[in-house]
Amino acid sequence: MPLDATPAPLVDSFGRTVSYLRLSVTDRCDLRCTYCMAEKMTFLPRRDLLSLEELARLSDIFIRQGVRKLRITGGEPLVRRDVMDLFRNLSGHLRRGRLDELTLTTNGTLLARHADELADCGVQRVNVSLDTLDPERYRAITRLGDIRMVLAGLEAAQAAGLRVKLNAVASRGMFEHEVDDLIRFAHGRGMDLTLIEEMPLGDTGLDRNESVISLRALQADLANRWTLTPERRSSGGPARYVRVAETGGQLGFISPMSCNFCALCNRVRVSCTGRFYSCMGDEGSVDLRAPLRRSVAEVQSTIRQAILMKPERHRFDLSRMAEPAVSRHMSALGG
Ligand code: SAM
Ligand code: SF4
Repeated sequence: MPLDATPAPLVDSFGRTVSYLRLSVTDRCDLRCTYCMAEKMTFLPRRDLLSLEELARLSDIFIRQGVRKLRITGGEPLVRRDVMDLFRNLSGHLRRGRLDELTLTTNGTLLARHADELADCGVQRVNVSLDTLDPERYRAITRLGDIRMVLAGLEAAQAAGLRVKLNAVASRGMFEHEVDDLIRFAHGRGMDLTLIEEMPLGDTGLDRNESVISLRALQADLANRWTLTPERRSSGGPARYVRVAETGGQLGFISPMSCNFCALCNRVRVSCTGRFYSCMGDEGSVDLRAPLRRSVAEVQSTIRQAILMKPERHRFDLSRMAEPAVSRHMSALGG
């Protein structure tokens, strides 16, 4: 069936226009970050994943429906063997002006291997997750990781001309002492840094009450040592930004728990099995894989209907961290 030639923009029932898709290409990962996964995880059988061709076709449908920004995520997207073929395919949308931005969120362990090709595909920015600069702490947080791989990835990305933003999940304890070093490290190398509040997604086997901290409180503490000036920019995204006068760099705060940002939300997510989620903080999802195997028109109308179900706001609550607010792990959708 032919594509709907002039599809209407994707607008939810609260008037928010959706222009940003986060596409997960795998639920697998080479790390097991304590806030993200349980130590022992059972991953999906590979046959359940959308094929590369299906991921590309689905992206195309979303782009025709008004998506202008596409972020590839996971699990760890770079562990999927054919992921660079997907980037190569999607780069065509950038060249034809149908997409404003193609980006990647990665843990960075395999970035050194792929940085040049990513840049060649038109990727201009990557988000790299790094919560500490201490090799032992890094190992403890990720359970499996070697920080040297990430540092090599950061260097390769910058050498390839990619802009890098570091993402760090804030946690109670050591992180509060290390955050100053992370600011100096990131800003000293021309990278932005965004701090993320831990969210109660999936059972990790650990009590999140022990680790969660409010970024409002952390920001107030940082303001005792750094000169933080709020930035005006808004990307429709969840982060609030400040400029750090001492470094000249930008510091972001993603605080879904202590500061709700849903009114500006312009994003939707698709899992690696083709399930569509209009909100990360909600259990609701619909299947796009079966429609995709039948007709484009069916995918388009399923997306339109599902967007109308986008909740007004997520269900996270700082006072209820003991139980997951949603049962899926962060790695199932990629943040
Ligand atoms: N593997 C890639 C990575 O780590 O960047 C991409 C997927 S990962 C799920 C995306 C982001 O979610 C990372 O920055 C990670 O730190 C963050 N994250 C994972 N679990 C989280 C949680 N429970 N609360 C807040 N952020 C979380
Ligand atoms: Fe893997 Fe990213 Fe989750 Fe860490 S946060 S376990 S790197 S998916």
